[in-house]
Amino acid sequence: MRKALGAVLACALLLGGCAAPAPEAHSSTLLAMDTVMEFTAYGERGGESVEAAKDTVRELEALLSVTGEGSEIYRANHGEAVKLSPMTADLLGEAMEACASTGGALDVTVYPVVRAWGFTTGNYQVPDQQTLSALLEQVDYTQVQVENAVLDLPEGVELDLGAAAKGYAGDRLMDLFRGYGVTSAMVTLGGNVQVLGAKPDGSAWRVAVQDPAGDGYAGVVRVTDKAVVTSGGYQRYFEKDGVRYSHIIDPATGYPAASGLTSVTIVCGSGVWADCLSTALFVMGKEKAAGYWRAQNGWLEGGFDFILLGEDGTVTITQGLEDSFSLYGDWSDHTLEVVRP
Ligand code: ADP
Ligand code: MG
Repeated sequence: MRKALGAVLACALLLGGCAAPAPEAHSSTLLAMDTVMEFTAYGERGGESVEAAKDTVRELEALLSVTGEGSEIYRANHGEAVKLSPMTADLLGEAMEACASTGGALDVTVYPVVRAWGFTTGNYQVPDQQTLSALLEQVDYTQVQVENAVLDLPEGVELDLGAAAKGYAGDRLMDLFRGYGVTSAMVTLGGNVQVLGAKPDGSAWRVAVQDPAGDGYAGVVRVTDKAVVTSGGYQRYFEKDGVRYSHIIDPATGYPAASGLTSVTIVCGSGVWADCLSTALFVMGKEKAAGYWRAQNGWLEGGFDFILLGEDGTVTITQGLEDSFSLYGDWSDHTLEVVRP
């Protein structure tokens, strides 16, 4: 009898403590776009939504893959005039704007150069200067024209939306979750993280910035409704004669970007812009990135912030992250600089 009463009291206390039960987490994983992806959504229709998320990503991959025969990008790269689907047209439009806005630090036509270095196949090599110079003549995003949703590339120009595709996928997934009535979700697409709302308990999501030299973290940023996208030279590279060559190419030289940074993380409401800018600012380096932030932040809706990790161990953040970013563990004693308007 006593025992039973005790149990009833405990229940009452529990119920009083959390009137609404914590919404259930639903997760799914997928290998797509050369990336391990994980989707988590909370609440009643979370399970359905994370299954549908897989279909959305597969659909985008089938449209955008540079190597997948039959994709819209593949067909355009092989001489066909292609009527673009709404998603490809939308992504290409955003990416082209980012190319222009970054003065070509992002260039969606750099693909032939990326291929010459072997980053598409894994047959890595250092191309000679003559080869690079010839290929660079065809690298120019302004040659990409879309008329009435038809993409018809000039001879020799090839398109690669790899620097923006995962970010765009993140945006589409946030839309998809909203459509299911989900208010709290997180997706991880390799180095891209994007969150919807806050965590179910109302607190901000904590997203880690990887230590480029190890398995640990350099810092943590607290966000709601944001994409947190990192591009780093450490993610994909090869070494030859003691030199490290990474997969982010400076379209001005045809060589892997060597701007003194080991990684760039962009925090932005738009996934596609976060992705475009993480690649572009890695090419720019610290000084130009700070100048770009000052010039563009009022223009890009909602603005953006960055976290730059320098080869010298310095961490540079923009003012908007001053209260939400913290150095982590071994990195706690690194120099933290703040860029202000
Ligand atoms: P990841 O896809 O590895 O997460 P990024 O978003 O930075 O990283 O995209 C890098 C990819 O974009 C490269 O693998 C290459 O295909 C392509 N790329 C490399 N340099 C550039 C550039 N300057 N502009 C546009 N695309 C680039
Ligand atoms: Mg990118």
